[in-house]
Amino acid sequence: LPDPDATALTGEDVALRLPRPGASSDKYRRGVVGVAAGSRRYTGAAVLAVGGAIRAGAGMVRYAGAAEPVAQVRARWPEAVITELASANGDGAADPAKEIAEVGRVQAWVLGPGLGTGPEAHAVARAVLASDVPVLVDADGLTLAARERELLRRRTGAPVLITPHAGELSRLLGVPRERIEARRLEHARQAAAELGVTVLLKGSTTLVAEEGRPVRVNPTGSPWLATGGTGDVLAGLAGTLLAAGLDCYDAASCAAYLHGIAGQRGPVAAADVAQALPEVMRSVINRPRQPR
Ligand code: AMP
Ligand code: MG
Repeated sequence: LPDPDATALTGEDVALRLPRPGASSDKYRRGVVGVAAGSRRYTGAAVLAVGGAIRAGAGMVRYAGAAEPVAQVRARWPEAVITELASANGDGAADPAKEIAEVGRVQAWVLGPGLGTGPEAHAVARAVLASDVPVLVDADGLTLAARERELLRRRTGAPVLITPHAGELSRLLGVPRERIEARRLEHARQAAAELGVTVLLKGSTTLVAEEGRPVRVNPTGSPWLATGGTGDVLAGLAGTLLAAGLDCYDAASCAAYLHGIAGQRGPVAAADVAQALPEVMRSVINRPRQPR
């Protein structure tokens, strides 16, 4: 349905907003992304989120997590700077806030893909959300927040971007999934207002909602993206755009647009979506100007 408060995102919108490094940029100024993701059981989510961030052109990616995902990220991404968290390993004597601070300075965090939902994950989530930089919360981070909504709502220092699919939003709002699916735009707005966050609602059409701004409707994407791990890549990509200085609304909408194009070429594995990002970004940045 046409909605006066919804607006279609265009390639030109994205091209205008995508960060390009200046001649005198260095890796710190381009944006350092922190990734707190993965667990003993879900090591791949960490690899994919880090991959999305690196392929999107982060100045640097700092990964922090438990021993098993640390080993996988180390093997797959030599570019990442890695910190093993004793608190993520379940060491009760460790101080998660101190460990997260010791990861080093980041301009944005990506929290949640494959993180798990046990006490270790909860401790890491609290520590990351206590930082003073924007945080993207996805997947298990959203499950934790559904259990304790104050995790998101109490945050005042820096903004939060959440990236739920309909099931995750359903748990977060306590609204049945079918009701979310039937009124996606309305519930994306509701979550943005109730939690005071920016919402990227995933699905066959991706929406971006933030209070006081029109809902952006993403025109790209393909059902080929409905495969395990693509959401983790999206989280890393959006984290890179946040770290580069885009606000949550622009980071979310540009990430959805680019991710959608990267998935449009037929059957893809999540890693292929990350792999395609540099070429997709190049094509959007260099797109010919549209005659008016
Ligand atoms: P997740 O739900 O975290 O696994 O993420 C899945 C990704 O695939 C999101 O970016 C969705 O928007 C996308 N996706 C899933 N199903 C479809 C679909 N039918 N059409 C287009 N994109 C989809
Ligand atoms: Mg997901």
